Amino acid sequence: TNEEKKIEEAKIRYKAPIVCILGHVDTGKTKLLDKIRRTNVQASEAGGITQQIGATMFPADAIETLTQKLPNLSLSIDVPGLLIIDTPGHESFSNLRSRGSSLCNIGILVVDIMHGLENQTIESLSIFKTKNIPFIVALNKIDRLYEWSPSKDEAFLTTFNKQSGHVQSEFMRRAKETILEFNHKGYNAALYYENPDPEEYISLVPTSAITGEGIPDMLGLILNIAQTKLRSSIIYQPKLEATVMEVKTIEGLGTTIDVILMNGVIKEDDNIIVSGFNGPISTRVRALLTPMPLREMRVKGEYLHHKALRASMGVKISAQGLDHTMAGSPLFIAKNEEEIPRLQEEVQKEITEIFKSINNK
Ligand code: GDP
Repeated sequence: TNEEKKIEEAKIRYKAPIVCILGHVDTGKTKLLDKIRRTNVQASEAGGITQQIGATMFPADAIETLTQKLPNLSLSIDVPGLLIIDTPGHESFSNLRSRGSSLCNIGILVVDIMHGLENQTIESLSIFKTKNIPFIVALNKIDRLYEWSPSKDEAFLTTFNKQSGHVQSEFMRRAKETILEFNHKGYNAALYYENPDPEEYISLVPTSAITGEGIPDMLGLILNIAQTKLRSSIIYQPKLEATVMEVKTIEGLGTTIDVILMNGVIKEDDNIIVSGFNGPISTRVRALLTPMPLREMRVKGEYLHHKALRASMGVKISAQGLDHTMAGSPLFIAKNEEEIPRLQEEVQKEITEIFKSINNK
């Protein structure tokens, strides 16, 4: 039908927004990711989750199924999905965090409702702010409130309305406390369903990474922001934009790099340029790899090979001479031999700037 055709066109026009999760240690960043993955594996028969290299692709139809639980949100989904970066605590990720890059389109800041704002919460806040990355707050671990009665994977207000009076008051007391702490740091904040002005107030989404409560709200809200406020920045751009997340040795493949492809296309045999500890590296893509789909992942270390991949995407690249690649380096593609020296210079310039910004912190 016409409607279906329009949706398909939109999905080519837009790329999956790239989502980063930051927050204090032990607030539940890893657990939230796990939960999102598992819920999705269970919830979706068709077009399920794909575990990508260094990231998880949460496809539009799975989000649609989940967000149907939200009473007040009707979303038409234009993006192919959400690409959630996997490595919240990773070392190279902290370099990427300080980088003035467009790696993340949108952020999730995780706060433990039992602890409120902590040191790394404040740090994460200032990263989002200085990089101009819009973000929401997951007010996590609501299931730990005294006598909380969980409803698995339910929308927040649905489960909240079923709680007894004293549990509701305890939730409100803690939520208000956290909002006050944000105020003291100079931020306006509000529970997302009471937010008077999302431009002025940070939205708090109550969640539990254990019971899955509030996760439909969290994903719905992210998608909503991506498709309104961020609409122009998630239009797919053919110009390549890619960053090396990790450098890994894999049996049978040698040294590989895990790359987040933010825009553009990368192909087998492409001439890539990355920054290395001993100067710039230029080499040819030998293999473009993604993990086997979850259900088929019986044999460890098996990958799917691709001729070409398009953003947004997490991809493993195997090539010769990648041994000394620096995680955090940008990745360029040379159209011809003549372009290589200029791109080598450019990659070194960018990496120097990254180090400068890290050292200035
Ligand atoms: P990270 O350091 O932010 O990645 O935190 P983790 O995801 O490793 O979680 C730290 C601890 O908190 C683990 O023991 C988790 O099981 C627990 N945890 C995380 N989220 C929740 C939650 O929503 N509810 C409860 N009860 N525990 C949680």
